[in-house]
Amino acid sequence: MRIPRLYVEQPLAIGVPLELDSHSARYLRSVLRLSEGDSVVVFDGRGGEYRAVLETSGKSSARIIAKEFDPVERESPLHIHLAIGISRGERMDLVVQKASELGIAEITPLFTQRCEVKLSQARTIKKSQHWRQIAINACQQCQRNRLPDVRPAATIGEWLCASQSGLKLLLDHRGERGIAQRAPIDNRVVLLVGPEGGFEASEIAAAERAGFIPVGLGPRILRTETAPIAALGILQALWGDLQ
Ligand code: SAM
Repeated sequence: MRIPRLYVEQPLAIGVPLELDSHSARYLRSVLRLSEGDSVVVFDGRGGEYRAVLETSGKSSARIIAKEFDPVERESPLHIHLAIGISRGERMDLVVQKASELGIAEITPLFTQRCEVKLSQARTIKKSQHWRQIAINACQQCQRNRLPDVRPAATIGEWLCASQSGLKLLLDHRGERGIAQRAPIDNRVVLLVGPEGGFEASEIAAAERAGFIPVGLGPRILRTETAPIAALGILQALWGDLQ
């Protein structure tokens, strides 16, 4: 039977009891249905994972104690940074979840000209926390022990000004095909994907000035959530850890 997995913010150490926050305590009790004495695999995002035992479990409190450490790594040798125009509702959630499973290292949500989502500063911060939680859930499920870095949302202009290092690819169905003919730089790729309405010509021009190469994935126009998932599969198969 597979042992359930839990991410905790606090650093873990063998033999040191850890009081869980109410969210994690409720997750163990109500979702994973664990009782005192049950085992759980716990990771703190600093690498490796611990086999821990649930020592006490209340309605909204719980204490675990780590028993053994396994330094297993499941990270891709390819560092991929995905920057994507924010799309409505569940589409963005799906991208964060699938990109996390596919081994993304960084995700930056972008405000672009055709982005249909307008958020206040407070809502943007809440959304970032929501996307981070989706990444955590994905890592708990897919056995990653390090979380992708969900970066603060930025405008595409701001983001292009900050220097991004690696092979820079702009996904565009009009672009020349052939990702395989390129090569990552220092094992890094930066992937820029448009929102549902695509990029404005001025944004594509600005990205090209910043060193992005427009590349097409195939003859069909993919939805904004499909395009990065397909591209991540290709990149990980070419230079990462999917076979
Ligand atoms: N009407 C929009 C346009 O003309 O750009 C279509 C936008 S598409 C729904 C959303 C994003 O997915 C695009 O901005 C692009 O980044 C990516 N995309 C979709 N299909 C693609 C393809 N075949 N090749 C490369 N990128 C693609």
